[in-house]
Amino acid sequence: MVKVLKFGGSSLADAEHFRKAAAIIKSDPANRFVVASAPGKRFPEDIKVTDLLLECYRLARAKQPIDEPFGQIEDRFRQIIADLGLNLSLESEFATIRLVIKNRAGRDYVASRGEYLNSMILAEYLGYAFLDAEDSIFFTEEGTLDLARTDESLEVLLEEAGSAVIPGFYGSMPNGTVRTFSRGGSDITGSIVARAAKADLYENWTDVSGMLMADPRVVKNPEPIPYITYRELRELSYMGASVMHEEAIFPVREAGIPINIRNTNCPDAPGTMIVASNDQAAAPTRVITGIAGKTGFSAIYVEKALMNGQLGFGRRVLQVLEDNGISFEHLPSGIDTMTVVVETSALEPHREAVVSSLNKKISPDHLHIHDDLALIAVVGRGMVSAEGTAFRVFKALAEAKVNVRMIDQGSSELNIIVGINAADYATALDAIYREFVK
Ligand code: ASP
Repeated sequence: MVKVLKFGGSSLADAEHFRKAAAIIKSDPANRFVVASAPGKRFPEDIKVTDLLLECYRLARAKQPIDEPFGQIEDRFRQIIADLGLNLSLESEFATIRLVIKNRAGRDYVASRGEYLNSMILAEYLGYAFLDAEDSIFFTEEGTLDLARTDESLEVLLEEAGSAVIPGFYGSMPNGTVRTFSRGGSDITGSIVARAAKADLYENWTDVSGMLMADPRVVKNPEPIPYITYRELRELSYMGASVMHEEAIFPVREAGIPINIRNTNCPDAPGTMIVASNDQAAAPTRVITGIAGKTGFSAIYVEKALMNGQLGFGRRVLQVLEDNGISFEHLPSGIDTMTVVVETSALEPHREAVVSSLNKKISPDHLHIHDDLALIAVVGRGMVSAEGTAFRVFKALAEAKVNVRMIDQGSSELNIIVGINAADYATALDAIYREFVK
C-alpha cells in the first residue's frame, strides 16, 4: 500500500501545523510521499508566502528594494525551524534566492521558492529525502505538463528515494528554467506524484473536512459529501463548487486512483472520497450528491417559424458566437426556438455585434436577450434510479415561489440544471437543499 499526501498552505503555515501534518504522516507506514505547499495564512489578514514572493518579484522589476517582504519571508521560515527545534539552516538558500531575485529572476522561479523552502524543512523534520520538483516534474516547450516524461523519470526517482517530500506547484521547462502551474497548483503536483508512485490513494489535506453538499455561505450548515465520483465532481466544480485545482483531477482519474479530501485540523473526520466509478463509491445515501450554482448568465433567445426544418440553423447561431469568441454553456431548444446560455461577462463586449450578426445571418422572427440569470445544478449519481427527482426539484422551487426560466436535464443523467432569476438564487438553492436533506 502506498499513499501520497499533499498538504496545502494553511496545513503548513507554522510549526503547530507542521506537527499536526507530521503526526498524520507518521501514523501509517504507507504514507511515503508528501507534497508540500508554501506556508499559507495563519490568520485571516496574514499574507501567504507565495504572495510575499510575488511582491518581491514586482519590486525587483521596478528596481525597488525587496528587503521588507523578503525579510518577512525569511522570518517565517526561521520561526518554523526554531519552533520545531530543527538543526537546519536555510541562510545560504535565503542569500542565493535574494540575489537571484535582485538580478531579475523570472516570475515563476520567484513564486516557486515558498514550496521549495517549506519542503526542505518538512523533509528534515520527517527524516525523508527532499526531491526537488525541478528535477522530476517536466513541462513541454509550450509550457504544458509533459506527463509522459514526468511519469517515467518520477517513477524511478520515487522508487529510489523510498520516501520523500516533493515541493508542489512547479517543475522545469526543457531549457531548465522553473515553471509553475497556475495558483493552487500544488494539488496538481500531488496528483502527478500519486500517479507516478502508482499510489492506492491520494490524500489531499486541507483546512475543511471535505466537500459540502452546498455552499455554506448560502445554505446553513450543509452536510458533508462522503463519496463523489469524478463525473459528479466535474459537474459541481463547473458550477463553482471548488475544493481543489481543476487540473489536479486528470492525472489520478486516468490512473483510477481515488482522492480523499481531509482536514489537517480534524484528522479523524473521514472527509470526502472522490472515486472513478459508481461501484468504488458507497451506495448513495441520498438521491442527490450536491447542489451548486452561479449567477451572471444571459440567455439568448431566438425564435423562427419552421426553424426545425432548416438544416444548419443551430450551426449558424453558434457560428455567430464563435466568431465573437464566446463559448456557450447550455443549449435548450424547442420546435421553433433555440436558447443559448452564455456568461454575461463574455457576451457584454460583443453584445451589439452578436445581435446584428444574428439578425443578418438567420433573420429570426424574434430575438431577445434575458440577463441576470442564475443556473443551479442539482447533481447526483443516485438520480438515475430514483423516480420523482425532477418533480421534487420543481416542487421545492414552486413552493419557494421561484419562477423557473430554463430547464436542462443534463445529457449525463447526473444532473438537472435550472435557470432562474439571479435575485432568486439563494432562495432557490436553499429550497432545493431542504427538499432533499431533511
Ligand atoms: N503556493 C501556491 C499558491 O499559493 C500553490 C499552492 O499552494 O498550491 O497558489
